[in-house]
Amino acid sequence: MKRVLVIMGTRPEAIKLAPVVRELREQDGVETTVLSTSQHGALLDDAAACFGIQPDEYLAAPAGGGLERMTGQILAALGEPFERLAPDLCIVQGDTASAFAGALAGFYRGVPVAHVEAGLRTYHIRSPFPEEMHRQVITTLANFHFAPTAAAKRNLLQAGIPAKRVWLTGNTAIDALRYSLVEGKPKTLPDLPRDARMLLFTAHRRESWGDALREMLAALRLTLEKFPDTYALCPLHPNPAVRGAAQELLAGCPRVQIIDPPEVTTFHHLLSRAFLILTDSGGIQEEATALGVPTLVMRHATERTEGIRAGVLRLVGTDCRGIFSAAEELLLPGSEAYAAMRHPSGAFGDGHAARRIARILGGWLER
Ligand code: UDP
Repeated sequence: MKRVLVIMGTRPEAIKLAPVVRELREQDGVETTVLSTSQHGALLDDAAACFGIQPDEYLAAPAGGGLERMTGQILAALGEPFERLAPDLCIVQGDTASAFAGALAGFYRGVPVAHVEAGLRTYHIRSPFPEEMHRQVITTLANFHFAPTAAAKRNLLQAGIPAKRVWLTGNTAIDALRYSLVEGKPKTLPDLPRDARMLLFTAHRRESWGDALREMLAALRLTLEKFPDTYALCPLHPNPAVRGAAQELLAGCPRVQIIDPPEVTTFHHLLSRAFLILTDSGGIQEEATALGVPTLVMRHATERTEGIRAGVLRLVGTDCRGIFSAAEELLLPGSEAYAAMRHPSGAFGDGHAARRIARILGGWLER
């Protein structure tokens, strides 16, 4: 039996690794252990549960106190499970502190590292922070690089990774989305008006909190006031910095529902019903592109440029005016700009990335 250790710490890692775990568990001769670093705690468990997965191992929840402390604690705590489980391979996804610490622990132990969603780059080492640094270092540490798109593959080759170590697989986010929409069981959806257009608004990035968030909320308010046939659904983090700002800036504003972030199956169904998405999330950009739901990306830069080229995403920055004028153009009756954006695109994959990854790794483990 070959042993694979899948390391995850946050909600998006659980969502994007769940399809890989499901596929690996179909492989003969492979025993897959899922380890949660507890970086996101229950949020990760809820996301994994939507795909029928429960972590087998948990690290103690990292205490607060800054990135160095969190990353250091996760790294130190990984020593014991690596020792006890003696994996033949470890898998990390993306660019979080957990992925970074997981790849480094694998490297220190001489355990080959597979990196899912490899090759994303902004080439600004401090933006997104600290994720861009994590990605670049994980690329240096990993042995298997699974690129979600051709652009990501090019970035890896440009970084000097030999072509035989890079596979273009598509993004497993699209596998997860397909699973949710076909097999997932959404919890009861919030009561949604039937005869109005849904604006789905999310802002979860820490760098958005503060002035940028206030600008985004002000733009949402202007949009709702201008278009009486729209309503906004805002799944927002209960953190007072976010909720407080939303309650203040949307006070008295008609047709707004602020809700707790729903679990991923429900959220995927909401995305598919949205008329327009306003978000700062990375994963939602991929999902929106696959669904063809026009999306305003409230950031200054995105590494998901494929969605922009596909025409489904539009980068609008974080100023109220910029966000509002883009929303206005798309919401005007008969908007041609809107119609041009409303096209599903396979730019991020065809929903079979996890099978490709599991076959490549299964073949290598069998050798
Ligand atoms: N998501 C969710 N519930 C929400 C908002 C997002 O399940 O209320 C999912 C979403 O579908 C996507 C992932 O979480 O798959 C994105 O995670 P997040 O925005 O936290 O991180 P990022 O992708 O920006 O790293």
